[in-house]
Amino acid sequence: MSQDAPILIIGAGQAGATAAAALRALGHDGGIVMVGGEAHAPYERPPLSKAVLADEQQDERIGVHAPGFYAEQGIDLRLATTVASLDPASATAHCADGQAISFSRCLLATGGRARALPALPEGQPRVHYLRSLADARGLRAALRRERAVLVIGGGFLGLETASTARAMGLAVTVVEAAPLLLQRAVPSVFSDWLAQRVRGLGIDLRLGCGIASIPPAADEVAVMLADGTALRAPLAVVAIGLHPNVGLAEAAGLALHPGNGGIQVDAHCRTSAPGVFAAGDCASQYQPLFGQEMRLESWQNANEQARIAAAAMLGVPTAPSALPWFWTDQLGCNIQMLGAMDPALRYTLRGSMEAPGADTPPRFLLLGMAGAQLRHAIAVNAGGDLRPLRNLIEQGTACDIGLLCDTALPLKQAAREATAVRASETQS
Ligand SMILES: Cc1cc2nc3c(=O)[nH]c(=O)nc-3n(C[C@H](O)[C@H](O)[C@H](O)COP(=O)(O)OP(=O)(O)OC[C@H]3O[C@@H](n4cnc5c(N)ncnc54)[C@H](O)[C@@H]3O)c2cc1C
Repeated sequence: MSQDAPILIIGAGQAGATAAAALRALGHDGGIVMVGGEAHAPYERPPLSKAVLADEQQDERIGVHAPGFYAEQGIDLRLATTVASLDPASATAHCADGQAISFSRCLLATGGRARALPALPEGQPRVHYLRSLADARGLRAALRRERAVLVIGGGFLGLETASTARAMGLAVTVVEAAPLLLQRAVPSVFSDWLAQRVRGLGIDLRLGCGIASIPPAADEVAVMLADGTALRAPLAVVAIGLHPNVGLAEAAGLALHPGNGGIQVDAHCRTSAPGVFAAGDCASQYQPLFGQEMRLESWQNANEQARIAAAAMLGVPTAPSALPWFWTDQLGCNIQMLGAMDPALRYTLRGSMEAPGADTPPRFLLLGMAGAQLRHAIAVNAGGDLRPLRNLIEQGTACDIGLLCDTALPLKQAAREATAVRASETQS
């Protein structure tokens, strides 16, 4: 492995673009080659189900970096190019177009692709999946053409898409197999609140409804639910999860996690092959807060792992990964989450889940406690309130939940007093 060869980044998405910038910021002045299968320079995916879906003017505003960034930083960006194989032993990658790229170190930032529903495959007329800008453009055109849409899957992506489609004036039906929304990410009290909010916006939400069959239909999509209900719509969006893009890694003999299918990395984003790193949606890493190895499919995780991988590639010490944080904009609310959800936590409300008025959105926190320790916080239209809570979760500081949820005190003060009370109890 020649140290003079460039660093190769495979995948020009969130993690790839962030890693390239981090390498330069950390002083790497050698070559960087970034190869991306899409025709676009790296762009942010979160707006695809939100602003981009409703407004084509956003298409040009979602670049991870400004258009001139890659040339200015001497980053050799090769778009519309797919890496077809990777040989860690000879430190060489081969692209589908025949070019071979030697590297000193390599970052796999290959992301993932939408999980397919076999009876409604991608490419079938009236069926849409949403992962790329091209997908968003296709779906946007269809949403403008049609009056109704059936969203299959009530996860974050399905709910965001449903919410945007509803705001565009379509009749929207959401079908979710689980009995609760976002069951693995939020406590049931929040799932119930979300369901109420979804229905309040006039979205027809079918919970606990598995799909029994999908009969062929001309000029529409027809779905038969397990409870016998038949649904028909001129348009369907399938949002049932993600498969990590790990084909390259698997063929190269890298270790994959047997459960989540991601490329296994250590705390420095090193894979099982020397000189090869992985970051973002494709990577599986031990998450101390969750107590298990996981793939975190989030914007923040892609950026964090990219930063850590870049430092590790250069042998530069860096801060450990920040607390998991996630946000979503949907149903007229900004929802942010910090820490790790666990159904065993006891959740307490700060504020009110009721909207104070028709035009004023609700504003509240749901705080998940393990004994006297805060482990998980959900903020609805109150993202700034997560700041004083970050230290509490990170350090496992004991705190008094009654004081923390006392809205007579500003949150910063409440957090201070809630920990002081517990500290004095411990001392006495
Ligand atoms: C519609 C949508 C909305 C989202 N909303 C939110 C949100 O609100 N909040 C949040 O936290 N997260 C959100 N996310 C998730 C977040 O965008 C992802 O977690 C993040 O983009 C992951 O970054 P990544 O670099 O790992 O993968 P990606 O951004 O997917 O980039 C991977 C890139 O690698 C390329 N590639 C793959 N294989 C090869 C190969 N062999 N050769 C060359 N190139 C290759 C792919 O084409 C792709 O361009 C959303 C995602 C989507 C799709």
